[in-house]
Amino acid sequence: MKKVAYFCMEYGIDKDLRLYAGGLGILAGDIMKAACDQELPVVGIGILWRQGYTRQMLGEEGRPYNSYPLNDDIYNHLQDTGVEVKVNIRERDVICRVWKLDREGIVPLYLLDTNLEENGFDSWITGQLYGWFEEERLAQEIVLGIGGVRALEKLDIEVDVYHFNEGHAALAGLELIKKKMNRGLDFEEAWRETRKQIVFTTHTPVKQGNEEHGLEAMRYMGANNRLTLEQMVAIGGAPFNMTVAGLRLSRMANGVAQLHRETALKMWEDVEGRSPIIGITNGVHRGTWVDQRMINAYRQKEGLWETHKKLKQELIDFVENRSGVRLDFDKLIIGFARRMVPYKRSTLIFGDFKKIDKYLEKGEIQLIFSGRSHPLDDEGKKIIADLVQYSKRYPESVVFLEDYNMEIGRYLTRGVDVWLNNPRRPLEASGTSGMKAAMNGVLNLSTLDGWWDEACEHGINGWQFGGGYEGKNQDEKDLEALYQVLFDDVLPLYYKNREKWVEMMYNSIDSTYQRFSAHKMIEEYYNRLYCQQEEKDE
Ligand SMILES: *Cc1c(COP(=O)(O)O)cnc(C)c1O
Repeated sequence: MKKVAYFCMEYGIDKDLRLYAGGLGILAGDIMKAACDQELPVVGIGILWRQGYTRQMLGEEGRPYNSYPLNDDIYNHLQDTGVEVKVNIRERDVICRVWKLDREGIVPLYLLDTNLEENGFDSWITGQLYGWFEEERLAQEIVLGIGGVRALEKLDIEVDVYHFNEGHAALAGLELIKKKMNRGLDFEEAWRETRKQIVFTTHTPVKQGNEEHGLEAMRYMGANNRLTLEQMVAIGGAPFNMTVAGLRLSRMANGVAQLHRETALKMWEDVEGRSPIIGITNGVHRGTWVDQRMINAYRQKEGLWETHKKLKQELIDFVENRSGVRLDFDKLIIGFARRMVPYKRSTLIFGDFKKIDKYLEKGEIQLIFSGRSHPLDDEGKKIIADLVQYSKRYPESVVFLEDYNMEIGRYLTRGVDVWLNNPRRPLEASGTSGMKAAMNGVLNLSTLDGWWDEACEHGINGWQFGGGYEGKNQDEKDLEALYQVLFDDVLPLYYKNREKWVEMMYNSIDSTYQRFSAHKMIEEYYNRLYCQQEEKDE
């Protein structure tokens, strides 16, 4: 079995370990859990975020504000490995202490931490996940990538495969190259040998979401790890693109759904010397995200509706607790929880008041929203403020839950009736929350983007709308299609044909429970990424 070191900036293990922002971290956490269940030789490398990602509460006028409470309680959950490694940042030595998160149900996760008195101001490098600006991000990536490789070495952990989840970890490749050069290999040889050790998962299909850095800034920060300008350009281009670097440093890469693979191939087709990109669709850790009562009912083919009623009631109580709003148990509840960015079109369903108003007035459609925006993203905050305005307009049927986290995600993806997702195709890479919903018998209503493009059997295990259309007036067309499916298919079925609804719930679980599990995903990682076999991407 190949021994794998998995590198990721964030890990969503549980809600109280505030080491994650969103989907990328949840994926990493689910992989740590699935690898443990299957007793695979995987370890995780990450950062001990002293403040985590933003806590984002609603302020005046529904504008969210950010706060960063210290996460220091986390030290109670960690084991000091006694190992410290040094990295050089801005020509200063920065010490990283290595902690181990040792808990049942996950493989060993090593977290690097600069929060030491000797580090002075640099102790804050591992402060805020995705916080601050370029220099700090580079500093964090030096800690994760270069520090991570050194930590593994000093911990005496043997590694066959370095798996970079996203470009954040790309600097680890520079360290692996440098190590070989120190042993006497020339740059080209060292790079070639290093590629054999690295695999890479690419994520965001939004070009600007793929981080780039000026080479001057990188040199100043020490992120070039003493490689020359020419060598840096050969790896990441100018400016240095972390995804391009990931693709050129690896022998094999994957997109996180089949459609995403095609999008990624188009995006990066001009990158010379990149690795082949295959498609390995994400999965979710069932022990974390699927309610056992629902799975029992599914296995017995009995009691699905009764179980769903319990889960829906639990959600309604949870929502009342959080927001003061008591939703109507007998009416349809639609859930929508996502990172608040424009392409996810969180307010799409409100697009035409003439059509949607009466359903919300009567409460025949109830909506629960949740989601955080990046702390510095005003556009994202505006989306939240807009959703809060809608919840004021329909106080009994629209709710916004502040500070989205794994707990809210858990309640929503098992307790609502329908899971809505309407990204502007093809910009959603995968979308794992829909998988959680599907496995809990919550029916997906989604554009054909990310995983749903391969999973949807319209009218059988959920619904699609928009037909995969990409092009002019996409928003208008998708809105019209959403209303059509919602009013003509979803509502009549929910209110008038419970039997068929429950049959769809069954199909939803049946078509996703194995196929989109983290166990299946990691098996594919082993078979198609970690082993050395050749695959091409055309
Ligand atoms: C599952 C989950 C995500 C990822 O879901 P997407 O469908 O990619 O948006 C993000 N945040 C939380 C809290 C989750 O539980």
